[in-house]
Amino acid sequence: MRFIEEYLARAEQLHLHRKTSTYEPIDATHVKYDGQTYLVLASNNYLGLTHCRAVQQAAAAAAMTYGTGSGGARLITGTHPLYPLLEKELADFKETETALVFNTGYMANLGTISALAAPGDTIFSDELNHASIIDGCRLAKASIAVYRHADTQHLAELLRSADCRGKRLIVTDGVFSMDGDIAPLPSIVRLAEHYRAWVIVDDAHATGVIGPGGKGTAAYYGLEKKIHVQLGTLSKALGAEGGFAAGSRTLIDYLVNRARSFIFSTALSASTIAAARASLNELVQRPALVEKLKANSSFLRKRLTSAGLKIAPAETPIIPVPVGPAALTLELAQMLKNAGLIISAIRPPTVPEGTCRLRIAVSAAHTVPELSEAADKISWAARRLSIIK
Ligand SMILES: *Cc1c(COP(=O)(O)O)cnc(C)c1O
Repeated sequence: MRFIEEYLARAEQLHLHRKTSTYEPIDATHVKYDGQTYLVLASNNYLGLTHCRAVQQAAAAAAMTYGTGSGGARLITGTHPLYPLLEKELADFKETETALVFNTGYMANLGTISALAAPGDTIFSDELNHASIIDGCRLAKASIAVYRHADTQHLAELLRSADCRGKRLIVTDGVFSMDGDIAPLPSIVRLAEHYRAWVIVDDAHATGVIGPGGKGTAAYYGLEKKIHVQLGTLSKALGAEGGFAAGSRTLIDYLVNRARSFIFSTALSASTIAAARASLNELVQRPALVEKLKANSSFLRKRLTSAGLKIAPAETPIIPVPVGPAALTLELAQMLKNAGLIISAIRPPTVPEGTCRLRIAVSAAHTVPELSEAADKISWAARRLSIIK
């Protein structure tokens, strides 16, 4: 199988070869590696809930009550009593009739989009949408019209010109995962109403992050009633794993029957669902967490901007530091690691060629002194590598 070796050698040469690294988590924002302690600015653990005592205890107690694995798919024997409770709580939080939990956010997107669109339909998709949306679109075998990022004029043109016999679906990230900007939902909804299209919003980076009480993108714009499907994950701001689709009762009934990533996979453990429920409860009970996340994000953004880095203004905890070439981005990430910071270097295929960047992810669990020191280190390293003057 020579093609495998050739692929790997070429990826290495282009500085695009990737491998996993193992860190020992200490708390929500620190890891140990080779005896050293690092501050993590690369995790989607936006509220630090993975290490909240109440969440940890809920997970442990559920394992003792219900066992570890679920033992089966949801439609067979996997639906333990915590599932309907979580789904009710998610629906209340998202202000929808009901919700359906999938095993990951990836599977929620894949299963939902591929169940809702079919050959003859057209899916209108932002060019920077997450890979799980892209894969869902491909699996649906519908026509795919990709519009320029957040460009609703382009979306309007495509909607006007698409030769669509079937349904129209518009799909977008709520908060874009690699850029941290927020989708222009009001214009999207206006167009959707005009063209009778459905709107599907992936709130992986928005739930627990934007909108009143961290309710997500639809709530941020007050458009809860206009979004047909709100997708989300339990793995980012909520300190567990899993994904979900929230919407009408008939939609969810349909997904239970048609979404293959739901039907053909073993259900999540009680422990994971308990962690998700406890996390959601923390989020609902402690809106100050979302405010702290906002304050931390805006603090770091300001510090990096005043150091001369080109930071796009935004109000989310995702802060991309544009670098460009892959090798230079890796070098910057390595320098910062030597200085005690874990920040991911993002390269193709995650982002388009030539737009490599550091992707800083802020957490409510970071302290201001930690962020301040991190800002100094980042601007020092960027200066050393002539990324800034
Ligand atoms: C992380 C992410 C997902 C996938 O969620 P997982 O729970 O990690 O599988 C989906 N969409 C977006 C925009 C994401 O960033």
